[in-house]
Formats: sequence, C-alpha cells, structure tokens
Amino acid sequence: MTDLDNGEKMLVASTWEGQGDLQEVSAAHLLAKVAEQRKQLDRIEALANGYATAATTGTAQPANSVNVLIGRSLSAFPGGPTEVWATTDMAPAHSYEAIYDPARISRADAETAVRTTLAEYSVQVAQFLTEDPPLTAAERGPEWMARYGCNRECQLVHAGPDGEPGWHSTVPVETKLRDLDPDPDPRVAATNPWLAARVVVDNFRPQAYGRTTKVWLDYGTTTGELTPAQAREALTELRGFAAELEAVVDLADAIAVDDFEGDPEILRLDREAEDRRIQAITEGAK
Ligand SMILES: [Zn+2]
Repeated sequence: MTDLDNGEKMLVASTWEGQGDLQEVSAAHLLAKVAEQRKQLDRIEALANGYATAATTGTAQPANSVNVLIGRSLSAFPGGPTEVWATTDMAPAHSYEAIYDPARISRADAETAVRTTLAEYSVQVAQFLTEDPPLTAAERGPEWMARYGCNRECQLVHAGPDGEPGWHSTVPVETKLRDLDPDPDPRVAATNPWLAARVVVDNFRPQAYGRTTKVWLDYGTTTGELTPAQAREALTELRGFAAELEAVVDLADAIAVDDFEGDPEILRLDREAEDRRIQAITEGAK
C-alpha cells in the first residue's frame, strides 16, 4: 500500500477481516506478529496432541487434580519467589500457570510451593508441564550474538521459528489479566494479555537504515510502537490514571449497591410479549 500523504511505501495489517483496525506497521512488527502466530499454533498443536494422548491412554485426571504449566521468569517480579494463577487457556490441558524466580527459589521448591498453595483450595497437582522462556542472547553466548547481530537481552530464536535477524526482542512483560475485549472466541482472548510491553531493536541492514530501539506497548490486540521517550510519557500517564481509575472503581462500588436482578417471571412474560410483537410485524409484512 502507498501512503497518500507522502507517496512512501508502507505496510498495513489488520486483525479483522473487515480491516476495521487497519494500522500502519513496521516490517519488524509484521515479522513479529507472524512469529507469534506461528508459536501460538505450535502451542495449540502441542496441547491438542497432549490431550489426544491423554484421552486415548485414559490418563485424564479426576476433576480436582490438575496440570500446572510452570516456567522460570527471566526478570524479577514483585511478591513471593513463586506465583500461581488459574488460567482459562486451553483447559483441560492445564488449569493453572505458575512462574518462579530462579534467583530466589529452586524449581523443586517452587513446585512444592505451588502444591501447597493449591492444596489450600483442595486442588491436587497431577503433573507440572514446563514452559521456560527462550534463552536470551547473553545466555547463548557471544558467538550467537555476533552471528545474529543480537543485543544481550534478545530472546528470539533466529535460527528457528523467529526467522532471520533484523529485529530483536525481549520477553514481553504482561498482565495476568487477559484481553478485556468482549471477543467472541474465548481462546483468542485468553492468549492475549490485557497489557504487555517489550523492548524491540530493529537493526535490519543497519549501515543503510541504522538501529532503532522501541518499546512495543500492547493493549489487547493493539500495539503501539513507542520511542523510549514516548514510552516514559505513557508510563507517567499510567501512574496518574491509576489513581483516577481507583476513584472510578470506588464510585462504581458505591453505586452498584442498588443493583438488582430482574424478576424471572416478569422477564418471561416480557420476552413472550416481544416474540408476539415481532411475529405480528413479520406476518403483517407478508
Ligand atoms: Zn536477536
């Protein structure tokens, strides 16, 4: 597509068939989206295979015994060294996810902590499924970094599903809360966090195009590609907005005290009356 303003070639992408959310994107953005989709498909396939195996071998667990997806965290996170939360993602392959900080706790102790936490809710762990994040470029070593032009923090598998170098990314930080859009497909909503952020470096043919560092800030399926300065501005806004949001939530709590359910009998009568009204209009139109 050609930009009508300046005649330059640009890429556009849309997640809706009707292109209602058409947005200009960089080549790096598009490559990243393709890689993400590919990973997601791989994951769904692995879960489907696992479920098929469990179904045919009769290893499905009783209702109060669950699989827990566990992985080490690349960065420190607040709270305890281990965190566990329920997931709506692709159940019954796993019903809970957990992360642990390898700098503070061993994998074995993290598993024990998760078992203890879930036991308080009368839930037993059938097995732990591992989902560690990809290695960073620093963990792969200087040879890898030189070969793919990576920065230390990059975690992309350039030799694998993430494709050729030219763009580099950290592991996204993301909210546990999933996308709030009332998406008709819960699996899609479950795979997208409400908010996420990562550092992306674009160094495609750097002699010609230079090197740029951006913060990709995701809101559901929408991504803002921000300069570090813009990202800091967003952070400042977010801090101020949190206080205002708290006031809104407090007010909603107070107003919601007067909420009530409708009378099911009156509801039934109202629906029947509505059906008769529609029927009368339909028949009148014949
Ligand atoms: Zn890289």
